[in-house]
Amino acid sequence: MLTAEKVKNYAKQLGADLVGISPMSRFEGAPMEQDPRYIFPAAKSCIVLAFRIPRGYLRGIEEGTYFAAYTAMGYGGINQIYSPIVMRELTCYIEDHGYECAPVPNIYPCPNIPFETQEHDPGRSLPVREGLPNPDVLVDFRVAAYAAGMGEFGYSKVFLTPEFGPLQRFVVLLTDAELEADPIYEGEICDKCKLCARGCSGAISMTETESITIAGHKCEYAKLDWLKCSVNYRGGVAEHNPFLTSDAKLEECQSTYCGRPQLDEWCGYPKLYGHNPAIEGARGCMRDCYVHLEQTGRLTKKFVNKFRTQKPWGIDRSKHVGQEVRSKHRLIEGGGE
Ligand code: SF4
Repeated sequence: MLTAEKVKNYAKQLGADLVGISPMSRFEGAPMEQDPRYIFPAAKSCIVLAFRIPRGYLRGIEEGTYFAAYTAMGYGGINQIYSPIVMRELTCYIEDHGYECAPVPNIYPCPNIPFETQEHDPGRSLPVREGLPNPDVLVDFRVAAYAAGMGEFGYSKVFLTPEFGPLQRFVVLLTDAELEADPIYEGEICDKCKLCARGCSGAISMTETESITIAGHKCEYAKLDWLKCSVNYRGGVAEHNPFLTSDAKLEECQSTYCGRPQLDEWCGYPKLYGHNPAIEGARGCMRDCYVHLEQTGRLTKKFVNKFRTQKPWGIDRSKHVGQEVRSKHRLIEGGGE
């Protein structure tokens, strides 16, 4: 007989760091474009896997000397390589027990429109039957993780787990097997210190909040400026991007969503494993938050040495006047062999 315990043990054996299970009923009230019940209407359980972002993936960015590991392995590598392999094996394991399993990887075709409108934009595709949402349904992984009892929304809107704080990525698997659900997380990880907002380049509001209700629980977090987040995380802040080319016109990227393609050109750093360069290294929402959670002893995953050892860096471009950055980096595989 397939049980929650068996699924969790096998998922961890395969490489998932955390596993939570939610009944599909906890998605009641979700916008239809984000409701996983439209992906697999007969599903009874939503299995959520978390893959930690090892702290060392951020080391080079924290020091300001090596930027490839986080984008390649902390973003693209987890989302596009590691987690799909684990999901396939777990899917087959569940299907070997006679139940269907529909994986929802942390990869989705993103329409070329602003994030804040894309879930509800009727122009992005056509529903195939009356009463169905426009495909693709975009499952909100944070909502799924909350419903599966894995932690809580931080003030930053980044999902926090008691084990790793903000350092993990999630995937979802839907199955018609009825598995024992985890209770909603009742602890408190985020203390609303707002260091995430202070460390962010203006995308996380210090004062305005938004909220949603999941399974009767209210989740509140800062209002997020998606355009700023989207531009800044991939190198749109001159102080935090040593590769930014001298011809960059950041105002154009910052002011319109359409400025983003030019940013790819000006950012100076390539996509790695298909992911946009995450040059900024999640400065406020992940690194500053992690430092705070570590300092206040709120995480169960402990390290011998602390993560932050010196004041965070910022480039003073006035000291580099006349020193142009012209070279755009490109990806070379196996270079230096
Ligand atoms: S930095 Fe502070 S306020 Fe922001 S998410 Fe982390 S604990 Fe919460």
